[in-house]
Amino acid sequence: MIFSYPVFRFMGMQSSLPLPSWKTVLTQIIFYFILEDFVFYWGHRVLHTKWLYKHVHSVHHEYATPFGLTSEYAHPAEILFLGFATILGPALTGPHLMTLWLWMVVRVLETVEAHCGYHFPWSFSNFLPIYGGADFHDYHHRLLYTKSGNYASTFVYMDWIFGTDKGYRKLKALKSGHMEDSGKEM
Ligand SMILES: [Zn+2]
Ligand SMILES: [Zn+2]
Repeated sequence: MIFSYPVFRFMGMQSSLPLPSWKTVLTQIIFYFILEDFVFYWGHRVLHTKWLYKHVHSVHHEYATPFGLTSEYAHPAEILFLGFATILGPALTGPHLMTLWLWMVVRVLETVEAHCGYHFPWSFSNFLPIYGGADFHDYHHRLLYTKSGNYASTFVYMDWIFGTDKGYRKLKALKSGHMEDSGKEM
């Protein structure tokens, strides 16, 4: 925060009235989500290389079955490294302070949901097919570091484009096939 504040200021961050319109807020936050997801994906993949995994990222992976609080449980170097993905969007666009706070809140809520371990009927991924959510990230925590896949933070398309969701898709297909089979038996 101390280091990013001058950058936000330089990029035109406002903290006075009037507040920005909801269209500006929404456009900026959608842009931050897309950018964050892209940068996080590559940063996270790098963290899954042997040395970085062993010395940094394994802390976050201590929990093979995560719950909400474990979303923020990571090596300090990882917090700084992947936190860069979160502040890059605001650093580029200089939003209003309220937009920055709102972005921080929704980003933390999003990662807590992704780690909560429950796929609720009201989970976002039920309504927005490009959204990952708990089921998607749970799979990432379940497997060995070289085989995990599902590296993106919010959306599913990065892993789909770069082929790192093959295991997850296979499992999903198997599960739905199995459910269809047991449905036929009934
Ligand atoms: Zn990981
Ligand atoms: Zn995680």
